[in-house]
Amino acid sequence: MRIFYSIPETRAFLKRMGRNKQIGFVPTMGDLHAGHLSLIRRSKKENDCTVVSIFVNPLQFNQKKDYQSYHRDTRADLSALRKEGVDMVFLPSDQELYPDRFQTTVNVEGLTQGLCGAFRPGHFRGVATVVLKLFQIVQPARAYFGQKDYQQLKVIEKMVHDLNLPIEIVACPTVREKDGLALSSRNRRLSISEHKRASSIYATLRSVALFAQSHPASAVTSLRQLFYKGLDLSEEDRVEYFEVVHPDTLTTLKKIQTPFLLAAAVWIGKTRLIDNLLVNRNSK
Ligand code: AMP
Repeated sequence: MRIFYSIPETRAFLKRMGRNKQIGFVPTMGDLHAGHLSLIRRSKKENDCTVVSIFVNPLQFNQKKDYQSYHRDTRADLSALRKEGVDMVFLPSDQELYPDRFQTTVNVEGLTQGLCGAFRPGHFRGVATVVLKLFQIVQPARAYFGQKDYQQLKVIEKMVHDLNLPIEIVACPTVREKDGLALSSRNRRLSISEHKRASSIYATLRSVALFAQSHPASAVTSLRQLFYKGLDLSEEDRVEYFEVVHPDTLTTLKKIQTPFLLAAAVWIGKTRLIDNLLVNRNSK
């Protein structure tokens, strides 16, 4: 497994590999878990060569403290990537990606207004900017993103479409703990009792989805009430948002009609967790 820290070295290596090799790319912020590995395994299956980037992107954190306290363990990450048989890792510094006087950013407009975008100003601008830069450096045939970060996935798909990038975006299902909690680098911050409370997020999304499917005439407000009621929260926790949106446009639905996406952000103590559930026409 080759590891590169600079853009020229990365480009030179990829050029040496030859133009006819298809590159699969998995951008990450490190602190790798089974969710990340599922993306990597999929890429390994579908491409000649798999490239992973690890970069904690300062531009997408709207709180400096959150950026500074983001868990980093490059040694453990590299060992996991080696085991997976990844071909190349790109590990740039902040200065490598954002040299002084960096002035250009990418803004995907409509899709970033609701859900997480409403609570994290500038977040998706940071995500789109870094992902476009990484795409330009790696020039993959395919790039792999988790449905766990559903709005992020849609923003990247839109950017690729709007800017005519010759890259296929592959959406990968959310990997979960046995109790349903979506794997996330943030889960390590949870105490045992917080973890238990957090697991009620997905369980409740599922029961709200079942209710919505069996009561198609129900109003979104009653689904919201059901969600709040179903969660097992304590006084330190709070729901940031619960929305029912169209899965392509992410606009809020007033009436339930398939397909729809239930999306939520919940603070469990000091940890912000997001999750979602997509209900298609023939979902059971
Ligand atoms: P991150 O390191 O959090 O930026 O995530 C890197 C990629 O892994 C993103 O495409 C995420 O959507 C994806 N990812 C994170 N958690 C999961 C999960 N539990 N299941 C599937 N993909 C995930």
